[in-house]
Amino acid sequence: MARKSETEVLVVGAGPVGLITALQLRHQDIDVRLIDRGYWTSKESYGLALHPPTLRLLAELGVDKPLLEDGLKISQLILHLDGKRVYTHDLAASGGEPGYLLVAAQQRLELALVEALRTEGVTVGWNQELLELDSPEEEAEAVVSHLGDVATGYGVSDLARVEQERETVRARTVIGADGYGSTVRQRLGIPARRYHAPVNYEVFEVEAEASSLPDSMNVFVGSGGSSAVLWPMPGGVCRWSFEMPAAEAQDLTVSRLRQLIQEHAPNHMPELHNLRWAASVSFAQHLAESLHRGASWLAGDAVHQTLPYAVQSLNAGLQEGYRLAKALDWGTGSRRAGLLDDYEREVHGEWEALLSLSPLLPATAGLDPALRNRLADLVAALPATGEPLIESARAMITALKQPAANP
Ligand SMILES: Cc1cc2nc3c(=O)[nH]c(=O)nc-3n(C[C@H](O)[C@H](O)[C@H](O)COP(=O)(O)OP(=O)(O)OC[C@H]3O[C@@H](n4cnc5c(N)ncnc54)[C@H](O)[C@@H]3O)c2cc1C
Repeated sequence: MARKSETEVLVVGAGPVGLITALQLRHQDIDVRLIDRGYWTSKESYGLALHPPTLRLLAELGVDKPLLEDGLKISQLILHLDGKRVYTHDLAASGGEPGYLLVAAQQRLELALVEALRTEGVTVGWNQELLELDSPEEEAEAVVSHLGDVATGYGVSDLARVEQERETVRARTVIGADGYGSTVRQRLGIPARRYHAPVNYEVFEVEAEASSLPDSMNVFVGSGGSSAVLWPMPGGVCRWSFEMPAAEAQDLTVSRLRQLIQEHAPNHMPELHNLRWAASVSFAQHLAESLHRGASWLAGDAVHQTLPYAVQSLNAGLQEGYRLAKALDWGTGSRRAGLLDDYEREVHGEWEALLSLSPLLPATAGLDPALRNRLADLVAALPATGEPLIESARAMITALKQPAANP
């Protein structure tokens, strides 16, 4: 028979968004349980840049210090079209305090949040997978599988994950922070709208001669349809990402990276050393049609995803987790319902604007067609979210219409 338990809030997914949500709930003295089907935090840098509002939020939560110690501050995004520098976005002038982006590996952020939660008495329930969810208005019931490893094979041994126990968890609220393929979203029956076919990227993180790296984020757009991004990282490392027309299987080696830099940004070839890691990743621009059903809510990549350039989905998700936790702090009254309605309306509206690009289309009249065709990439390259993103994008479009005055 399944074990039974209760909690005030069950957070499903211990990625950055689930972690920050659980932390804020604890700061509000709300009883929270956080589960994740994985073994441990992310192993790599993944979403590697924290925007100014995110840095302010992390400072408020007291988790910014280790990140600031290890991270790299950069204050400019430089945009290149067909090899020519066409625009500079200066965060010191437009991004609000602290006026820079922090390049910090996602696993560093997650570890800082895990540690902050531990000091609040919350440990992540790793190896616990949400299977089923029933979510009427007053209370949700979740079926959770506890996973363990068993040795398999003979001669060549291997490990397989098997269910060791099943548990039924009752919670006043369930928060689905369980990423792009969200089980919570699926169990709630909330469809996600696709705005574009998935786009594939080859991503390389490589050691390089520090003196050959820029001190800004660089985005290279080709009028023929290509795009690439170069991020400097702390400790003489850089990240290159290249949009790939199709998911052809390639060996992701340093010589492959050299070839791609040569094709996309020949004037920006750093002196490359060892490859740290490389991956082929696909991103789909999508948005959940609703952020809640009954007693359950969604945040982060479970709600949305866009192109990866400026790490908008992760930064927006961190703000959402925090806002959702705050909205839940108002008992069951109409104030709480109003705050949750605001959360749903604002988050949905911001992402609908970002993905449809509708507020920007009037401003693109007169823009070089090569740039207009790449509008989604240009907007995704700006390190901002919400209304500030739309404002920054309008300023960028205006500047791009006057090439003589740029960069
Ligand atoms: C290789 C790679 C490179 C990336 N690069 C970039 C980039 O350059 N720019 C960018 O913007 N983003 C990038 N991302 C995406 C970025 O990592 C995500 O936007 C970010 O992690 C979203 O955070 P989240 O907390 O919403 O979801 P996630 O980090 O996806 O966390 C969801 C968690 O939920 C858990 N989970 C899922 N289902 C269940 C279940 N049924 N039960 C229990 N737990 C469950 C998962 O194990 C996971 O830990 C990259 C991702 C990868 C993998």
